[in-house]
Amino acid sequence: MKPIREPEERAMFRDMVVKVLESQVQPHYDAWDEEGIVPRELWRTFGEAGMLCVDVPEAYGGVGVPFDYSIVVGAELARMGFGALATNVMVHSDIVAPYLTNIASEEQKQHWLPKLVSGEAVGAIAMTEPGAGSDLQAMRTSAKPDGDGGYIINGSKTFITNGQHADMVIVAAKTDPSAGARGISLFLVDTSLPGFSRGRNLDKIGQHCGDTSELFFEDLRVPASALLGEEGKGFVYLMTELPRERLVIGALGCAAARGALDLTIAYADERELFGQKLKQLQNTRFRIAEMETDYRVNQAFINECIEQYSAGELDAATASMAKYSATEMQCRVADGCLQLFGGYGYTTEYPISRAFTDARVQRIYGGTSEVMKEVIARSLLGK
Ligand SMILES: Cc1cc2nc3c(=O)[nH]c(=O)nc-3n(C[C@H](O)[C@H](O)[C@H](O)COP(=O)(O)OP(=O)(O)OC[C@H]3O[C@@H](n4cnc5c(N)ncnc54)[C@H](O)[C@@H]3O)c2cc1C
Repeated sequence: MKPIREPEERAMFRDMVVKVLESQVQPHYDAWDEEGIVPRELWRTFGEAGMLCVDVPEAYGGVGVPFDYSIVVGAELARMGFGALATNVMVHSDIVAPYLTNIASEEQKQHWLPKLVSGEAVGAIAMTEPGAGSDLQAMRTSAKPDGDGGYIINGSKTFITNGQHADMVIVAAKTDPSAGARGISLFLVDTSLPGFSRGRNLDKIGQHCGDTSELFFEDLRVPASALLGEEGKGFVYLMTELPRERLVIGALGCAAARGALDLTIAYADERELFGQKLKQLQNTRFRIAEMETDYRVNQAFINECIEQYSAGELDAATASMAKYSATEMQCRVADGCLQLFGGYGYTTEYPISRAFTDARVQRIYGGTSEVMKEVIARSLLGK
């Protein structure tokens, strides 16, 4: 379902995105899910169609349209049931690119942004480590001075979205292990450098063609020009950029719920049992009414947060509410919809099963629901 009163130009952009996904993604998606990865060329296809990093300013190759156009791309991927791709594209366009737009030097912007826009380069961001997920400050990856103004990075990361395809990874590392959060810095790591290696693409219970990898850094030398922003300010930058990431995850959650509801409404009209249609049973009617309401209320809040973000006014606690509420709703709706499909819903032949398994991680990455509640509570009650 299209948003009520969508501006005409954005509606045209949405139609274009849907057409590209119908022709370039839909026919192949099952095969990609089987293979466990999408082809690298798909990034070029999206770049040529003008679907990557669309809010990057024109000076750096982007279209320079407002943020809500970028949401359209991820949301249509999620609504159409391509949850893994939605995650991959969101990380590239809505997480990695903004770090460059907002923090990078002119030289770094000129070097990376046009490539991210065209799909020539795929972007990733590596914060999580085997021993440091929610507790990011426990990270052990280190970046030590190399004596020439550059750094030597050692360590490993895990669960990194776009890890297999990434040409550039924003790596969070400790430049001063004794300084806690103030000892973390960010680096734009070119993955062609010696000392960088990728582990396997991780097997997951959902988002099967999603690119999610371990990364390793072994005496990886980066020049001084790889430092993003100022040394020791990495944690501040992460905290500044997280609201957008959380809002986008929430927006994808709403879009995926919309897709699941559409599938279920259609199925309820087809399936017959006890001499009547599934949609005529009161339980079906009530469940769909409940889930549609749940979706609509969350979508309204997401729309408000998109407006706040666009005005530069979205705070961390409100973004956490958006992620927490919308992803919990997505999982409730995916589960409720699957139930209405009966046994067929449990088979991979029916796309509702993918909506269910793809949804689960949304409550985990980008900060778990529990961490979101902690952020919200802190804003109200203090520490
Ligand atoms: C598919 C996928 C893609 C990902 N992509 C990326 C990526 O691109 N880049 C990246 O850096 N990371 C990525 N991640 C990592 C993700 O952000 C982490 O998995 C997440 O932050 C949780 O960390 P953890 O897995 O170490 O769990 P832990 O932090 O070990 O959490 C374990 C449990 O403790 C709970 N918990 C944690 N803190 C608190 C608290 N204060 N109070 C109460 N309970 C708490 C958690 O909610 C959870 O239930 C990805 C993960 C997945 C699965």
